[in-house]
Amino acid sequence: MRIDRVRIGYAPVRMRRPMRTAIHQTTHTHNALVEVCADGVAGQGAALTLAAGHAQAVCRMLEDFAGLLHGRDPREIRAISAAMRQQLSLTGQSGIGMLALSAVDTALWDLHARAAGLPLFRMLGGSATALPVYTQPGWLSLSDEELLAEALQAQEQGFRHYKMRVGSPDWRRDLDRVTRVREALDPATHLLVDANQGWSRTRALAATRALDELGLFWIEEPVAVDDVAGLAQIAAAIQTPVAAGESVFGTEGLRPLIEHAAAAVLMPDLQHCAGPTGFLLAATQAQLAGLPISNHLFIETSVHLMAACPNAHIVEYMPGWWDELFERPPDIRDGTIRPSDEPGIGVRFRDDATATLHRPQHGPD
Ligand SMILES: [Mg+2]
Repeated sequence: MRIDRVRIGYAPVRMRRPMRTAIHQTTHTHNALVEVCADGVAGQGAALTLAAGHAQAVCRMLEDFAGLLHGRDPREIRAISAAMRQQLSLTGQSGIGMLALSAVDTALWDLHARAAGLPLFRMLGGSATALPVYTQPGWLSLSDEELLAEALQAQEQGFRHYKMRVGSPDWRRDLDRVTRVREALDPATHLLVDANQGWSRTRALAATRALDELGLFWIEEPVAVDDVAGLAQIAAAIQTPVAAGESVFGTEGLRPLIEHAAAAVLMPDLQHCAGPTGFLLAATQAQLAGLPISNHLFIETSVHLMAACPNAHIVEYMPGWWDELFERPPDIRDGTIRPSDEPGIGVRFRDDATATLHRPQHGPD
């Protein structure tokens, strides 16, 4: 097989509800798309950003990678991944460059599995067993009534895990809201909270000690991503598992969290980990450290990877962000999900997103 066409696109998607966390506020996801074709088989990948300019920067990086891809065997994914990494050595193997690399890597795995006629999880030796999945978002911007209604609706839809946001300047308000949601939900429904790095270390210690009484499923990113010592201090001070890892890049980023016992659950992010190739490496890194993983976002691809990881804990679903980018939403039933049984990742971009795909306008075609 030889790669004979690369197309790149940009698709903004309006969120079902405006997003507000401790550190982000926006109404759209801005997605950079890539499609890699070889011998009539097409694989697709995407990178998610929260700003149009960021997505366009990823598209520009994708155009440069297109020149590197042409004529190569798309099944030699690890060699291509290494070549892309080398191309990033001067500008850095993280950030915008890593998002572009990850989208290409995802498209290559999709292409490879499609060409083999296998769903990706099968190609990776994974199982078709249903995995537990949690829903969300419980934004800080929701009124108390809206938050309670959303949590109860999730429970009615069959979800047994629901995540809400904390991390507001007044942590006592967070505590009050979490307590009310916890009391409203069935005792068998698990409640997760995510502070999105919103608290200072002092605030986080006070808040997490108070939240520790509520029997939460986990507390996510209580402090800034680079405050590994603070994270470790909190993890040691409370019984509730601390989850972290979505904001760091690759195995290098996860290593300090492991070495300092800063998290009980690691959350590798597909586009921060160099696509499926790097996600699987990060999952193995966590497994060797005796830690479970929960994917960050990208459920369409990540569910295949989680199905292939013995230390998979729970799958993250973010409703109303990306569903409209694909031809159908993920198949979630009774709070569980199975990877698609169709070849590759098993789902395509919707027609209006596909219509944005075009050949590179800059660099070699
Ligand atoms: Mg999070």
